[in-house]
Amino acid sequence: MSELVDVIAGRRFEREPAIPCPLCGEWNEPRVIKARYGMLASVAECLPCRLAYQTPRPSDEASQAYMNMRWSSGDSYVADAGAKLTQARKNAQIVREAVPEARTLLDFGAGSGAFVLAAREAGFDAVGVERSEAARARARASYGLELLEAMPEDTHYDVVTLWDVIEHLRDPVALLKWLRSRMAPGGVIVLETGNYENWKRLAQGDTWGLYLLDHQFYFTPASLKMVARKAGFAEFRLTRRGRRIPAPMPAQPSHRDLLTHSLYDRAMKDWPKHGDINVMIALAKVPAAAAVTASRPSIAGAGQGLEIVGGKRKARGLERILQLFRRGGADDRSGDAGA
Ligand SMILES: [Zn+2]
Repeated sequence: MSELVDVIAGRRFEREPAIPCPLCGEWNEPRVIKARYGMLASVAECLPCRLAYQTPRPSDEASQAYMNMRWSSGDSYVADAGAKLTQARKNAQIVREAVPEARTLLDFGAGSGAFVLAAREAGFDAVGVERSEAARARARASYGLELLEAMPEDTHYDVVTLWDVIEHLRDPVALLKWLRSRMAPGGVIVLETGNYENWKRLAQGDTWGLYLLDHQFYFTPASLKMVARKAGFAEFRLTRRGRRIPAPMPAQPSHRDLLTHSLYDRAMKDWPKHGDINVMIALAKVPAAAAVTASRPSIAGAGQGLEIVGGKRKARGLERILQLFRRGGADDRSGDAGA
């Protein structure tokens, strides 16, 4: 395990010591996966927490070298300003519908700034914080936008957004706690991240596109909710955005079609509320002391495309859910002629 070495732009980086599950402290055996961009991910699953995480982790230096490589690479993920803005505008609409009254917004880990721009278009008084110099330079070049290097002092925001950020953090509970302290009572945090419990991961196995060197966590709705709750947020909800369903079964289905549909059906049977969501957009609130008596969730849109996750999970048998969670899909692809 400790002989795992990350090679980034010709430099070699040792991994950190192995870690137990950051939520419950249990030790779980990791599996090394060939991630994108020729990198490695070493992923362990904690079944009771329904959380997957990297152990041993890449070093902080490796993560920084990786992010610099990505931001200066000019690949489509970072370079396509038009596509990023289109997606950001959709996301801004989701946030606007969820919090129609909110005014101030902080985008934490703003990347190239597309969401800050879209949020301003949607009527928010929005700022973005981004620690990568390369990303801030790209925001300037792409949108003429000045992102902040650090959080402004003494400002409390109505909304804080983290798009594709939380899975990169080494201590998400601590960071969310700190962000909560910079939010107004009743403020809403928006967390977007991949969903480990979705049929695409089962179908794609180790080729799932979200296995990345710098993804420290692979959340499920349950573990993401746990993190939000530990950080002091309440009223966790998952939007119904980011759903993907397989193409309709053709008249002459291939082995791959049959496999895809069976994995989809299996995921939807075990996780009917989110088995079809590949990328989650979750919302949670800073509890407002005065609103304790309110039984009705005060996030507008609840019940219209938003749903409460967890709490009401049918007791299907924990074992069964855990078994399906564990099945990564690698075994399932053994008979897959296509891949
Ligand atoms: Zn755990």
